[in-house]
Amino acid sequence: MNKLDSSLVTAALAERGFDLTDKATDADVVLINTCSVRQHAEDRVLSNLGHLRHLKKTKPDLLVAVIGCMAQRMGEHLLANEAVDLVVGPGQLHEVPELIEAAMSDRQKRLRVLDNIRRPADSETVRQLSDKLDDFELAYDTDENHLKSQAFIRVMRGCNNFCSYCIVPYVRGPEVSRPPQAIVEQAKKLAGQGIRQITLLGQTVNAYRYIEGDKTYTLADLLEQISAIDSVHWVRFITSHPGQFDPSILNLMATMPKVCPYLHIPAQSGSDRILKAMNRGYTAGYYLELIQKARRAVPDISLAGDFIVGFPGETDEDFEATVELVKQVRYKNCFVFKYSPRPGTYAERKLADDVPDEVKQQRNIRLLEIVGQIAEEENRRYLGRTVEVLVEGLSKKAHLNNAENEHHPQLIGRTAGDSIVVFNGSEQLTGQFVNVKIVKTSALTLFGRLP
Ligand code: SAH
Ligand code: SF4
Repeated sequence: MNKLDSSLVTAALAERGFDLTDKATDADVVLINTCSVRQHAEDRVLSNLGHLRHLKKTKPDLLVAVIGCMAQRMGEHLLANEAVDLVVGPGQLHEVPELIEAAMSDRQKRLRVLDNIRRPADSETVRQLSDKLDDFELAYDTDENHLKSQAFIRVMRGCNNFCSYCIVPYVRGPEVSRPPQAIVEQAKKLAGQGIRQITLLGQTVNAYRYIEGDKTYTLADLLEQISAIDSVHWVRFITSHPGQFDPSILNLMATMPKVCPYLHIPAQSGSDRILKAMNRGYTAGYYLELIQKARRAVPDISLAGDFIVGFPGETDEDFEATVELVKQVRYKNCFVFKYSPRPGTYAERKLADDVPDEVKQQRNIRLLEIVGQIAEEENRRYLGRTVEVLVEGLSKKAHLNNAENEHHPQLIGRTAGDSIVVFNGSEQLTGQFVNVKIVKTSALTLFGRLP
């Protein structure tokens, strides 16, 4: 989501004559797009602002803008930071270019965030704002924003789930689904520019609902309509919430070759007690049943998840329940996070952050070890198989000479199931679909050869 926001703002600024530089010392404007999901991400921003305050002593004209969730959450407080000129929340993304230009000319500090972010989704303010954001999105979403051949399209904003640990509903506002026409139009435009893979984005993407007259559009409708665009080869979606998962999505995955057999479907915990305290709205039993249904419908499905370890009150027994769930699901990969109390959330206000950091750390390491072991075992089934890969470009090891094929650098790409594949080939294959034969596997990577 943040990558997409950054690319939209970058494209809007490019249109106004700005160029990108990767050195703050060369820049006239530094934009920091921020995440508030965990304290660590915010700490990094604050430390960057420390460096920029220093830099400003030698470059007094440097303009620093903080945008995104942290801007919404900390507004005034950030504006008071000596380094900061502009603070703009995710709801005012479309105003960033004008605000930068205004601040460059009059050097005034500016704060643009929403004062009452939890207004109902059908209120006039939210509707007007959504329209403005939609226009911005449509205008500045081009193929150049993305990796070659692949694009992200936001299908909804905000979230209404209020998981007890999560800051998202407070900084991204209420859940609003974008009109299907706008999404499909955007997909067609991107496809016309050479985009072959589209990833639909939403905090709970499977909850996408747009009501028009007596028709309710769902994620399944979007997948069907986007699959119908000729030059689109793959369509995928992240992130799914396990609650009320619509089985028609699984049917589409099973029957439509363009819908990738991949679900990122975070469980967060395997303990019913913790799931309840997290306000996730399901039990481990329900989750496992859903996963079983998914595997039955789509036997080759790849599953990915997120887990939080060290949630308030998490005992060894609760953690073991998480380990057990991971062993049963056999994910392709998981993201594991140490619980981080977020100001204003239910968990932060009502529950003591009582799991010591060392314990969080140990649980984090142990869970990742188990995830890694399973992924390694699961990946072995690809040995000898030929898989279709969308090539992303040169791998990080591309510069190393490889005895196997000295003439071609190492490339990296992904399968429909989101497995990472590396192989040697011409850099010109970037953005293309190729078939690769898998000759070696590890927990995170499949190693292949072009035929
Ligand atoms: N909407 C997505 C996730 C958004 S945040 C979903 O519901 O699945 C991405 C991940 O960050 C979450 O899945 C969760 O695992 C983690 N996360 C969110 N809040 C957190 C917190 N306070 N501490 C630690 N991890 C957190
Ligand atoms: Fe946060 Fe829960 Fe919404 Fe995901 S579903 S964004 S974890 S509140």
